[in-house]
Amino acid sequence: MDMTAMAEGVRTGDRRALARAITLVESARADHRMQAVALLSALGQGRQALRLGLSGTPGVGKSTFIEVFGMMLIRAGLRVAVLAVDPSSARSGGSILGDKTRMEQLSRQPAAFIRPSPSQAQMGGVARRSREAVALCEAAGFDVVLIETVGVGQSETMVAEMCDLFVLLMAPAGGDELQGVKRGIMEMADLILVNKADGDLAAAAGRTVADYAGALRLLRKRAQDPEGFPKALSVSAATGAGLDRAWAEMQALAAWRRDHGHWTSRRAEQAAHWFAAEVRQGLLQVLQREPAKGLMQVLAEEVAGGRKTPEAAAAEMLGRLGRTGG
Ligand code: GDP
Repeated sequence: MDMTAMAEGVRTGDRRALARAITLVESARADHRMQAVALLSALGQGRQALRLGLSGTPGVGKSTFIEVFGMMLIRAGLRVAVLAVDPSSARSGGSILGDKTRMEQLSRQPAAFIRPSPSQAQMGGVARRSREAVALCEAAGFDVVLIETVGVGQSETMVAEMCDLFVLLMAPAGGDELQGVKRGIMEMADLILVNKADGDLAAAAGRTVADYAGALRLLRKRAQDPEGFPKALSVSAATGAGLDRAWAEMQALAAWRRDHGHWTSRRAEQAAHWFAAEVRQGLLQVLQREPAKGLMQVLAEEVAGGRKTPEAAAAEMLGRLGRTGG
């Protein structure tokens, strides 16, 4: 495969080239990996999209929100890519985010690109592929890259580490349920959107927004953000109410961060983080291959048999790796 030609195809916004490029970065084959690295280098880091992370538990309305919100952005003349990061597919091979037909209207738009989460991958693999897919969509000229994930622990942290803004979609709830929201997740959120603020749920949504707003005030404000952020707002993906306001707040925060240099510094930190993660991931792979794998087994047996201490065996292992480079 010619990576220069593929890079050119991606850069001109050719959707088939983009789809093929994403398949390439998703591949676990060693030769594909080398091509993927070459492709990403060829594309460089020229243009930047708004990378928007969106998380929420199953049933909270993510698909509905993305469909309506995405259509709103397209009407405003923007190109929108949607990528799903689904940690469940890493464990079980089944996907929460990819199975049903979602975002029917959006998926038919020439200005939209929707990529369901790939099945079968290791957690580290999911992170890498998602991040690289984001970079590809960015290079392909999308204005907004929406990175969707389900609200289950690790995946949120992963998505927060690859986006410029992180939005948490929540359901109207009683005050007690609010206690169950992990502090760490609240701390990552730039915007909490309480969905389903319509019909019978409107009043509960209003109370929930007030509860979250109170909770957010208690969390230490990030030094890099303007007054009033992070914010809680109510929306209805079903009726579209509040979506324009939510978008206005996202743009305001993004513009503020750009103007104050925080956008660039956040991206720089993320790049450094991903570099270190990639090296760690590579080292783990080295350990799973010969000769390191065999040596690991031999040393493990010696430790189990009481012939070496865990510390001495680990030092020996690391010493060998250091000398041979694997
Ligand atoms: P996901 O699992 O987070 O992607 O959630 P879905 O978008 O599939 O929505 C789950 C259910 O909630 C569906 O039955 C939707 O019709 C419903 N739903 C989504 N958004 C709203 C909303 O704003 N108001 C109401 N009343 N229902 C909604």
